[in-house]
Amino acid sequence: MLSLSTAITISGHRNHHHHHHHRHPFTHHALTHLPPSPQSKTHKSKTLTLTRTKIKAIDAAQPYDRESKLSSQIPKSITLKIAIIGFGNFGQFLAKTLVRQGHTVLAHSRADYSSRAAALGVAYYSNADDLCEEHPEVILLCTSILSTDKVLKSLPLQRLKRSTLFVDVLSVKEFAKDVFLQILPKDFDILCTHPMFGPESGKNSWKDLTFVYDKVRIGNEESRVARCENFLKCFEREGCLMREMTCAEHDMHAAESQFITHTVGRILEKFGLDSTPINTKGYESLLDLVENTSSDSFELYYGLFMYNKNAMEQLERLDLAFESLKKELFGKLHEALRKQMFGTKEQGLLKLPLNGNGTSLPSESDSSSTN
Ligand code: NAP
Repeated sequence: MLSLSTAITISGHRNHHHHHHHRHPFTHHALTHLPPSPQSKTHKSKTLTLTRTKIKAIDAAQPYDRESKLSSQIPKSITLKIAIIGFGNFGQFLAKTLVRQGHTVLAHSRADYSSRAAALGVAYYSNADDLCEEHPEVILLCTSILSTDKVLKSLPLQRLKRSTLFVDVLSVKEFAKDVFLQILPKDFDILCTHPMFGPESGKNSWKDLTFVYDKVRIGNEESRVARCENFLKCFEREGCLMREMTCAEHDMHAAESQFITHTVGRILEKFGLDSTPINTKGYESLLDLVENTSSDSFELYYGLFMYNKNAMEQLERLDLAFESLKKELFGKLHEALRKQMFGTKEQGLLKLPLNGNGTSLPSESDSSSTN
């Protein structure tokens, strides 16, 4: 999937009445808050070209910004040595900011990302033993939900320092917590997190984007407490809204919000939405939603379903809500049809609406029965 992050995919869509419409995606994994459509500002100009253009992983096209890197670096005393395991879409996304902040970032993944890592200022280790022997203070697990267990079991934990801090960013939290508690020796600290944003929504800034965390197991020693706080500061100093909650609370809220968002986005993607010359703001947000959700891997979506015990119930509720809405619509239609067909006693027969010549119906008072 990684070639995706280096490629710019452009897919043109149908033109409508010779208007073209530029739409900038802000794909968001968490998708809880959709920003207003950037496109809405452009409505004023009638001469605007309006082609629906989809650019994925646009951040890959942005040059490495040395100046901004230097200006936002933090004091050496609080920098961390962070090893990212799973250097895919999300791992690379986090690495960019961590490097900019001045942390030492190492990475390891199943695929070979050495040149990508070099371009980002990250030291890449194809071999997990070599990486662990570097004694990173933090292991940041960024692999897919489905591979978590396997990846964690395959790490040579004995090569790490005994007090290493393990952090995950999985979009499901109870599962991550259970796997960590099961597999990691008790000397390791555990911080479960979920940045509620991704490479698209957090492309320009992390300001006001939510960051959920649960200090599952942090030793009492001052240095361990400080290390955990230092790690959290990576997000705090970018302006994230820091939300401490239990993994169980997270999963409940995420099933109600994020999972439903992804599900509706994927339904609408299958439905096949297309831009029209008369898009309403509401419709624009649906188009944005589809763009947001379609760029995340299906594996990720499947993980949200499989590994969050609340997801099934929410899916059923969504189904029921749709059924009940249809029932309400069809019920009303049925009622109106019955009235039309059987009308009031005096009328007796099928009543017709105004015909094309403007001939009115038999009597004024009858018109109410057509509503
Ligand atoms: P993903 O499809 O969930 O995960 C891709 C990563 O998992 C790659 O690093 C890949 O390694 C690794 N991986 C997959 N299968 C593997 C296997 N069998 N063995 C070893 N490694 C395997 O996509 P993602 O967007 O990068 O997400 C990574 C994690 O971040 C997920 O847990 C997700 O829930 C979380 N997250 C994502 C977002 C987002 O916006 N995308 C936001 C918040 C949290 P290789 O590339 O080396 O094969």
